[in-house]
Amino acid sequence: MAPTRPLDLVIFGGTGDLAMRKLLPALYHLHCDALLAPDARIVGVARDELDDAGYRALSSEHARRFLGRDFRSEDWESFSTRLVYAPVDALQADSFAALTRRLDERADGPRVFYLSTAPGLFSAICRNLDAAGLIGADSRVVLEKPLGHDLASSRRINDEVGRHFGEEQIYRIDHYLGKEPVQNLLALRFGNALIEPLWRREWVRDVQITVAEQVGVESRGDFYDRVGAMRDMVQNHLLQLLCIVAMEPPASINPDAVRDEKLKILRALRPFTPGDVAARSVRGQYRAGASAGQPVPGYVDEPGIARESATETFVALKAEIDTWRWAGVPFFLRTGKRMQEKVAEIVINFRAVPHSIFGVPASPLHANRMVIRMQPEETVDLHLLAKQPGDVMQLQPVRLNLDFAEAFRSRRLEAYERLLMDVMRGNLTLFVRRDEQEAAWRWVEPILAGWEQSGERPKPYTAGTWGPSASSALLSRDGLCWHEEI
Ligand code: NAP
Repeated sequence: MAPTRPLDLVIFGGTGDLAMRKLLPALYHLHCDALLAPDARIVGVARDELDDAGYRALSSEHARRFLGRDFRSEDWESFSTRLVYAPVDALQADSFAALTRRLDERADGPRVFYLSTAPGLFSAICRNLDAAGLIGADSRVVLEKPLGHDLASSRRINDEVGRHFGEEQIYRIDHYLGKEPVQNLLALRFGNALIEPLWRREWVRDVQITVAEQVGVESRGDFYDRVGAMRDMVQNHLLQLLCIVAMEPPASINPDAVRDEKLKILRALRPFTPGDVAARSVRGQYRAGASAGQPVPGYVDEPGIARESATETFVALKAEIDTWRWAGVPFFLRTGKRMQEKVAEIVINFRAVPHSIFGVPASPLHANRMVIRMQPEETVDLHLLAKQPGDVMQLQPVRLNLDFAEAFRSRRLEAYERLLMDVMRGNLTLFVRRDEQEAAWRWVEPILAGWEQSGERPKPYTAGTWGPSASSALLSRDGLCWHEEI
């Protein structure tokens, strides 16, 4: 249901890539589905001296490209009446007068400040908003990643933002949490009695979480070389997905009930000792190879990358959770650039039956598996063995679709659409709380430090593969293999 109160959504970085590629298209879809409050406005903010017409023209040009077939001139026309613009330099307090004028144009309503800029500007933006008197009790601020480079810098950002906004006003976005299959996993786990008894060490053999990209660093080389896969993907997205899989049933779907349970998991992650870093982690860097049939350069030959760069473009980890539910169950996390396929998935591998009555030995290869896919398609499948029709008892693996896309014919919301709706409704459940974020940094830091102290370079892998061979070895030591190797 659409929020009814008039609302101003102010996008700092309103002319940037994220705003044009994700935020405005998401808002356009919400508008078309009548999910925006009738008077809701979107206020683009950046340094460019544009007027409203200029901002609408710029947005429309990008929207045609990013919305593709979903761009309908008539709908865009009506959507774009919501778009207004204020030229503001985040670093110049006096330039906030332009934003004040725009926000003063209408009666009071909630204000959402979406900070889609480099995090180096967050502090100045919050300080200057406060100084201009633009933050009210029902204002909210949305923070995009990366929130810091390590625990100390993330604390600094949180402290700075926290001087002007209460924690209950801060929405730290992790768009993987907004994806439909992740939501569905919550529904399946906590809405059904069937799954919960199996969701534990007695029946789960291992969990694999993969976020693999086919692309390289694209035009973000300069940024990526200072960050790497661990900070860009593992510290936030992969650990958040791990929490959703592993958390205990919360008492309710209330934000803090859910976030308390996620925090307990982050705190129960077994810390890596220096010895574990060598034994339980793999970092890699791609060399020249082929992607989608085309030759592609190696990482150090990409624009903006230092020739001797030791930044990892691939990480695989064996994580362990020290709780009664999960003791002894490995959680394998893997992410990389220039991988063979673009895949984001969670695989829950169940144990094989204790004894096969069908003449063939019970095999882990035929054990049940739940696959929650976020990319390239959004699906939830349960892999079972069933009898092949016919006169002999022959078993065959089959996939049971658990996302029921056919049953629910309504359009699925894209992750940013859902998360923007939640911000507008004031629902924090799918947003990361400060203590979660800091606990994630606390777990990741010793691994980063171990890599640095080892002096070893990341292991090379050919672009267009599944990463260094050490990644497969990480699982084969436990007699396991990655999902795609089955
Ligand atoms: P971008 O394309 O470089 O856009 C930056 C935006 O900030 C522009 O609108 C820019 O406009 C504005 N800006 C820069 N300095 C400013 C200042 N002093 N005052 C006011 N506005 C200023 O960056 P992006 O790709 O959109 O990314 C934005 C943030 O989101 C980054 O932190 C990024 O890491 C994060 N993020 C991006 C993506 C993505 O898909 N792009 C995904 C996840 C997270 P002017 O220069 O005209 O002022």
